[in-house]
Amino acid sequence: MRNEQATQLIFELSKSGRRGANLPASDVPARPLSELLPGEHAAAAPPPLPELAEPDVVRHFTNLSTKNMSVDTHFYPLGSCTMKYNAKRNERIAAFGGLANLHPYQHEDTLQGLLQLLYELQGMLSEISGLDAVSLQPAAGAHGELTALMVAAAFFRDRAESTGEPKRTKVLTPDSSHGTNPASAAVAGFEAVTVRSTPQGFVDLDDLRAKLDRQTAVFMITNPNTLGLFDRQVREIADLVHEQGGLLYLDGANMNAILGIARPGDFGADMMHYNPHKTFSGPHGGGGPGAGPIAVRAALEPYLPSPVVEKDGDRYRLAYNRPKSIGRVRSFFGNTGVLVRAYCYLRTHGPDGLRRVSENAVLNANYLLAKVKDRLSVPHGERCMHEFVASAAKVKAQRGVSAMDIAKRLLDYGFHAPTVYFPLVVKEAMMIEPTETESKETLDAFAETLLAILDESPETLHAAPHTTPISRPDEVRAARSAVVKWSAAV
Ligand SMILES: *Cc1c(COP(=O)(O)O)cnc(C)c1O
Repeated sequence: MRNEQATQLIFELSKSGRRGANLPASDVPARPLSELLPGEHAAAAPPPLPELAEPDVVRHFTNLSTKNMSVDTHFYPLGSCTMKYNAKRNERIAAFGGLANLHPYQHEDTLQGLLQLLYELQGMLSEISGLDAVSLQPAAGAHGELTALMVAAAFFRDRAESTGEPKRTKVLTPDSSHGTNPASAAVAGFEAVTVRSTPQGFVDLDDLRAKLDRQTAVFMITNPNTLGLFDRQVREIADLVHEQGGLLYLDGANMNAILGIARPGDFGADMMHYNPHKTFSGPHGGGGPGAGPIAVRAALEPYLPSPVVEKDGDRYRLAYNRPKSIGRVRSFFGNTGVLVRAYCYLRTHGPDGLRRVSENAVLNANYLLAKVKDRLSVPHGERCMHEFVASAAKVKAQRGVSAMDIAKRLLDYGFHAPTVYFPLVVKEAMMIEPTETESKETLDAFAETLLAILDESPETLHAAPHTTPISRPDEVRAARSAVVKWSAAV
């Protein structure tokens, strides 16, 4: 008989009165609950918390953790997400008591070490971007986008007051952009306008020219873009945007391809965000915590969120007195735990090491591209940057096997699936990003498996995965009517 315990919920494992701890007998007089809690709470029945012994709890959560895939257990070529292996040393340093146990309300004099680290991180991120000033506050990439657009809005508002120019109401995004780009534009109060891509996957300059005007605040570009291609027109794009008085924003989620090779500030960007949980070894997944530092040109610096970390002689301080600042976008100084890991990563690699990271990320992606392109077409090119987008459209037409079928089947063979059905401009898209931390053996095994799957029977593939605890959840229903907490009533 199967051991049912491994598949039960912790509430189902509960046995009344079972305990995981032995507490000493109380040495103070007992007091009724009604004296300790406001009336309605004291009268309420206690919450139905599960009651278990320690081994039951440890087994339950350890078993749960093995049901998932992670970078520490599996190859994870999830395009656009840069799921690189994260060195354990950075985790250890971030957990040092001198960093992890600090309280944000401590006096600045007792936070000098952390402030020095954050100050130096601002400097490194500024140098890598080719831009002048950095805010570490935003809590994720999307939050960085929103923050930078708020900075842009403040900049234009300020300028309109002195020049009398009309309000800038529009933010332009390419049709291949990440969904967060138009979403950030809308949340920041702009009208989001889509710019078409050419069949080759680059920004369509004619469409850009047609949509750019004096009402355009920002054009947001991702370069390399979500097809894994570097848009060489970017200088020309920057000139077009600047001619209309607008700003060029770089979505820096793909920085893993160009570290130490190309600087956004040098190719015309005025602002950008980083995703340290992608590029700089922050933990990634499960909804956070992340970080989304932004870098901007000097003209935008006064509007950055407060506080920023400044150096005053040999002392570091949090500067709050910044009258043009958009204010806070997050509590305290940002997700410092993630920022510490980014600092460790950058100091470990140094300038030459960072360049090698990107060179190897691009090399690994091209190696995989070359291995699969004869069977899975890659509509946008023979060469890529750090990732590429293959298409299962031909396989689907010929054998009825979809990108989803292939992705699901990969799970049976112990590989995390690539990103599928994104970007939207490619039919049956499979976006593959191996990262620089994978060996040739891993890449070979993945390519071999992927090609072997294409020869399997459509019936096998439609029903995959066959080895996971749950095979094919109803994804639409799960997204539309998510039940994310246990309830006795369900
Ligand atoms: C991941 C990603 C984002 C959003 O970053 P988060 O940190 O997940 O908010 C934005 N743009 C692109 C291209 C991305 O890949």
